[in-house]
Amino acid sequence: MQFPNIDDTIYQRIEALNKRVNSARQADLYYYNQPISELLGGSRVIVKGREMGMYASYSYLGLVGHPRINAAAKDAIERYGTGTHGVRFLAGSLTIHKTLEETIANFKNAEAAVTYTSGYVTNLTVVSTLLGRGDYVISDKLNHASIVDGCLMSGAKFLRFPHNDMDALERRLQQVPAGVAKLVVADAVFSMDGDVIDFPKMVDLCKQYKAWLMIDEAHSVGVLGKTGRGIEEHFNLPGTIDIKMGTLSKTIPSVGGYIAGKMELVEYLRHASRAYIFSAALPPAQAAAANAAFEVILDEPWRVDKLRANSKQFIQGLKMRGFNTLYTQTAIVPVLCGEDEKAYLMTREAQHRDIFVLPVISPAVPPDLARLRATVTAAHEPDDIEKAMNVIEEAGKIVGII
Ligand code: PLP
Repeated sequence: MQFPNIDDTIYQRIEALNKRVNSARQADLYYYNQPISELLGGSRVIVKGREMGMYASYSYLGLVGHPRINAAAKDAIERYGTGTHGVRFLAGSLTIHKTLEETIANFKNAEAAVTYTSGYVTNLTVVSTLLGRGDYVISDKLNHASIVDGCLMSGAKFLRFPHNDMDALERRLQQVPAGVAKLVVADAVFSMDGDVIDFPKMVDLCKQYKAWLMIDEAHSVGVLGKTGRGIEEHFNLPGTIDIKMGTLSKTIPSVGGYIAGKMELVEYLRHASRAYIFSAALPPAQAAAANAAFEVILDEPWRVDKLRANSKQFIQGLKMRGFNTLYTQTAIVPVLCGEDEKAYLMTREAQHRDIFVLPVISPAVPPDLARLRATVTAAHEPDDIEKAMNVIEEAGKIVGII
C-alpha cells in the first residue's frame, strides 16, 4: 500500500519497521503492547483471559492499587474534578500540586521540588533549560533515552563516558575548558541492567572539577536506601546531588516527574522550563495518588525490606540456575540471552507458561546482549519467585541459553 502525496523515504522507513513487527507477530514472538485486564494485587495479572505471574512491573514496592492511594485519587476527583485549568504557570496550579511538591522535597531531603507531567519530559526540559550552546554535558553511556534526548536538545557539547567508568569520567571532565558551565548526569540505578552508579566517586569528581551533578532516580526511589529515599541514603551521602530527578510512574504508582533541589533552582525551573510553562498540569487524581504513595512508603517500611529480600532471592536463584545477570544489585534483573531472537524465544516460552516477562533487544541494548528484563516487587512471595525462576530455567534450557 502507498500513502498518497508523501515522501518515499519516510514511507520506506515505516514499512521496514512494520514488516519486522509483523513477522515477529506471525512467528508468535511478539509480546509487546499486551493489554492487562486485571491487576490481582500486582504480583499476578490477567492477560487475554489468562492469569500470569507479573515479572515485568516497575511497581517495585507493590503500590499499584493500594487502597489508601486509590482513595486519595478518588477524593481528589471529588474535590477538583479530573483536569486542570491549563498550564501550571497560569491557572493550572492546584493546592494538591503544592502539597505534592512539599512532600517530595521532604522525602528527598531537599529545599523544594517542582513536578512535570512525565519523567521523560522532566529530563528533556530540565537539561535543555539549564544548558545551551557553549556549555558541556557529560553523560554515562547507558543513561536513559530521556536524558540523552535532553542533552541533544540542549545544544550543549555532549560528552559520553563508558558505563560506570569513573576514570573515563575524570578524563572527560579534564576536557572541559576552564570557566565553562558543566553538568554530569547519570541514572542512579540503570534501567536495563539494574546496577548502581559509583556514586561516591562521581560526587568527589564533581566537587573536584566544580561540575553540577544531576541524578535520575527513576529506579532508585523505594529501591535504594534504608527507608527507600534513594541513592544519597544508600551511600550515606546526604545533600550531594544538585539536581535530584525522579519519576512518579514506577515505585510511585501514578504518572509524572519531578526535580528536587535548592529553592533557587526550583524557582528558576518554574519560570524557565518550557514543559512547565507550555504544557498542562498533572491531573489532580495523579498528584494526590503520588502524594499518598510517598506517605505509604514511610508508613509501611516493611515494603522496602521485602523488596530487598525478594531481589536477593531472584538474583541468587537465577545465577545458581546458570544465567548471566550482569552486575545487578536491585529489583531489575537482566537475564542475558545473546541474540535478539533468543530473547524473543525466551519470552515466548515463559509467557506460554504464564510468566509475564518481556525482552529488551538492540538498539535499546548492545547487539548480542539482548535479554529478558525481569523484575521482582514487594508484592511477590518467595514461593512465587521460586516458581517463576523454575519457568525461566525451563525456558532457558529449551532455548539453549543454559
Ligand atoms: N528515567 C529513567 C531512568 C527511566 O527508566 C524512565 C522510564 O522508563 C524515565 C526516566 C521516564 O519516566 P516516565 O516513564 O515517568 O516518563
